[in-house]
Amino acid sequence: MAHDIHDRPEDAAGKSEQNRVVPEKTKHWRSERDGDGVETLYLDRAKSANTLGREVLEELEPIVERLEKDPPAGLILTSAKDGHFVYGGDVNEFQGLNDAGEVKELLERVHGILDRFEALPFPTVAMIRGACLGGGLELALACRHRVARDDATIGFPEIKLGIHPGFGGTARSTRLLPAPSAMQTMLTGKIHDARKAKKLGLVDDVQPERHLEAAARRAIAKGFAPPHKGWKVRSSNALPARRVAAEVMQRKTRKKARKDHYPAPFALIDLWRRHGGNKADMLAGERDSVARLITGETAQNLIRVFFLRERLKKASESSDRKIEHVHVIGAGVMGGDIAAWCALKGFRVSLSDIDVEQIGAAVGRADELFRKKLGGGGKVRDAHDRLHADPSGKAVRHADLVIEAVAEVLDVKKKVFAEVVEQVRDDALLATNTSAIPLEDIARSVGQAERVLGLHFFNPVAKLPLVEVVRAEGTSEETAAAGAAFCDAIGKLPLPVKSAPGFLVNRVLTPYLLEAMKLIEEGHAPETVDRAAEEFGMPMGPVELADSVGLDIALEVGERLAEHFRLEAPDQLKQLVEEEKFGKKTGEGFYVWKDGKAQKDTKAAVEPDDAMIDRLILQMVNACAGCLRDGVVEDADMADAGMIFGTGFAPFRGGPMHYAQHRGHDDVVAALKRLTDAHGKRFEPDSFWSEKSKRR
Ligand code: NAD
Repeated sequence: MAHDIHDRPEDAAGKSEQNRVVPEKTKHWRSERDGDGVETLYLDRAKSANTLGREVLEELEPIVERLEKDPPAGLILTSAKDGHFVYGGDVNEFQGLNDAGEVKELLERVHGILDRFEALPFPTVAMIRGACLGGGLELALACRHRVARDDATIGFPEIKLGIHPGFGGTARSTRLLPAPSAMQTMLTGKIHDARKAKKLGLVDDVQPERHLEAAARRAIAKGFAPPHKGWKVRSSNALPARRVAAEVMQRKTRKKARKDHYPAPFALIDLWRRHGGNKADMLAGERDSVARLITGETAQNLIRVFFLRERLKKASESSDRKIEHVHVIGAGVMGGDIAAWCALKGFRVSLSDIDVEQIGAAVGRADELFRKKLGGGGKVRDAHDRLHADPSGKAVRHADLVIEAVAEVLDVKKKVFAEVVEQVRDDALLATNTSAIPLEDIARSVGQAERVLGLHFFNPVAKLPLVEVVRAEGTSEETAAAGAAFCDAIGKLPLPVKSAPGFLVNRVLTPYLLEAMKLIEEGHAPETVDRAAEEFGMPMGPVELADSVGLDIALEVGERLAEHFRLEAPDQLKQLVEEEKFGKKTGEGFYVWKDGKAQKDTKAAVEPDDAMIDRLILQMVNACAGCLRDGVVEDADMADAGMIFGTGFAPFRGGPMHYAQHRGHDDVVAALKRLTDAHGKRFEPDSFWSEKSKRR
């Protein structure tokens, strides 16, 4: 429906300016109409990235009202920011929500606006560049068409925050795509690239920048598109199909998560099972469900985790040092994988080792990683081109950053650094991946402490997002900041820690792993011990984790840390290491391993009691307290971030210190005292707790 806006007097000014009028500009939105009557509405959130916060949505309401009264020939809804369309709802506004009734009212208002937007009597097109996530995708789904630039990333990540789409996305996506694929997208929180999104039907067209606007205009010329597509979609929402599919989804979800720990996926499946296909009921159910979820403990803790991640990323903002070439020394488990990861992320990398075969094996593993992450073809070749095998180690002289990952022996490391400083540029950063050797000892041998830091990666490098950025006494601020920025550049989360035995993660994790082994020594089945931690919410039990890390490494770290803390390696661990039963990598440890999986005897596990869960979890909580007392990390939030991103500590609990706070410090101390009486001094409450209660 064409609408000639040029007849109106207030448009005269616009005509003289390249035939354009500017109907309006608000704080976050602006729009313009062209000579054909096509209006482009830009979201340009003031002083911030585009998110759909309260103010942005409130401003949209009068715009919709104007469009209803004064319809253009068509509307292109887009973003004025080049890198993204909309990142989603404003997570800042999700924090601390505790009144479900109030949330429901808010959502009713948003639904009202988007319903009216969807019903506009002219073709509407979302023109998407970059990220179109969560609420942004829900806004786009209220348009009749969606065209995406080829760099677009599209999905519903809400589930990761413990909620599901709440701006009408559950109703609109299940009416647009066959419901199981819409549900899959929402349940996994997967972010799709533009081509996959088109294949799924989330967008209608994908184009490079130069053809994007023409595609949007072509969509307008096509006129209306029905908001739902064909029989396939309708039949996927029909009751019998829905019941069966929902049952399958429930079963699959139960395998991944427990309903009392992560209620959102179950709530989403239930919502669709009950109301799928009926838009009004689905929307009403969506409001109820999201209001309940977002005010619950799990969502609030996962929102907290979101901000912890943001805080870690911020630690990397204060460096402008350029790092282009990384030289890695030691091509073993860690060095080889660190080198591959850096090459994957676009850095020029050289890799040396005294053993050429180790370099060859590392390049083989790198190939697997590149193929897995990059698909194949030119990108894999380019990644290989960036990774140079350098047996002589001569490339170190060109490096901006050297990462040492040779054997955990001070004399070996000293020797390596002595050779490095002879050749390396004066301004290069010198990092070590040591797990336990005091950084000061290494720095002293280098003689230039200000440029020495620890970059403590975790195994497997490709899977674990955290890197502890270790600062020794002499490490300069600039070096630490540059190390953190480098971690960010390779897509890792930097956790600033002080050089101290075990830093944060190993110091906290080790007593937990050793306690699990003590429980086995007392006669509990490994399966029961693992189940105790899983009941609490750990993604993997401590016995399986120890077997995965490698019992040789667990013993080595345990013995090193025992010099500083009240720890004792159980005899059975020593025995297994002696027999070279290291766990997953040798096929046997506490468990027998087949095809990369621990062979657990489900019948062997008995219901663990709360005391067993406390024995495991409070070891971690108490060790975190010790780290805070020693200033290993800046504060309790940083301890929580380290444990969540470094070990997978139950994210829905918000981290060990958050858990302790939620449970009550007095209760934690009382439980530790009970455990001390029953099991010995290793449970003695850290003095952090009494100092803290004095400060209260
Ligand atoms: P690894 O035994 O798998 O690899 C060490 C490599 O260093 C070997 O390939 C060896 O040939 C090479 N090497 C030894 N001396 C050398 C020298 N003088 N010059 C060049 N290369 C030399 O060991 P790893 O598990 O990769 O551990 C390496 C470092 O990473 C250690 O400091 C360890 O504490 C730390 N770390 C290990 C883990 C883990 O889980 N494996 C996790 C975090 C940190």
